Amino acid sequence: MTTVSLVGAGPGDPELLTVRALKRLRDADVVLTDDLVDARVLALLRSDARVLRVGKRGGCVSTEQRFIHELMIREARSGARVVRLKGGDPFVFGRGGEEVTALREAGIEVEVVSGLTAGIAAPASIGIPVTDRRHAPGVAFVTGHRQDGEDAPDWAALARSGLTLVIYMGLARAEELVASLRAGGMPADMPAAAIAAAHTAQQRQVICTLATLPATLRSEGIASPAILVIGAVVNEAVPWQTLVGETGLLQVAGA
Ligand code: SAH
Repeated sequence: MTTVSLVGAGPGDPELLTVRALKRLRDADVVLTDDLVDARVLALLRSDARVLRVGKRGGCVSTEQRFIHELMIREARSGARVVRLKGGDPFVFGRGGEEVTALREAGIEVEVVSGLTAGIAAPASIGIPVTDRRHAPGVAFVTGHRQDGEDAPDWAALARSGLTLVIYMGLARAEELVASLRAGGMPADMPAAAIAAAHTAQQRQVICTLATLPATLRSEGIASPAILVIGAVVNEAVPWQTLVGETGLLQVAGA
């Protein structure tokens, strides 16, 4: 039976790939990749592998998603070893579920190779644990982005939950979501962090408070892709002096 591998590429640095992901990449004939995947990961492919970039910059998202499904199905039926490669983990804000459904409906078997998600790896790169029993009993992974007709997260409930909030795709609406959290009763001085392009050569981060987050993001020029972390766990971030290598660019702003 034909199988497509839905592979998580992790946040950037190829050392964070799983061993299984590396095997699938080396075996792949055809790779359909998202924009977010690091060039160093694509460099691990065989030189004769075909790389199809199916990122969703601009255009009509739903049509494109259907197109991706059709392309995967066509390539798999042709007998090629197909890898569908996604940044981070394929099942965390990656439409992996929809792609699995489409492939199964077409009679194609799918293997999911989990990856290290940015929501865990980005905070960890500066010493922030997403859970820590001294600070938070758990963590909520939420998206700051939604399309028309999709429900927004219940920010007021999240503000009261005591959970660490890890927000993906939150830059564009940072102001709005900070206002919603404050309206829900979260204190203005709740620690907050933003980590951009974690585990890449472009990594940058800031540490501030809930109230100063929108202004800090602007003044420090924090750009997508970035993870926002809100909660007392941010207090565990390591002092910038002790950071080495790719994370040596830590900036503490508005603290
Ligand atoms: N499946 C991915 C998430 C895709 S949604 C995962 O599991 O990581 C895209 C969002 O992920 C971005 O807007 C950003 O919030 C986050 N993201 C992905 N890679 C990142 C990185 N290297 N550093 C910081 N945030 C990242």
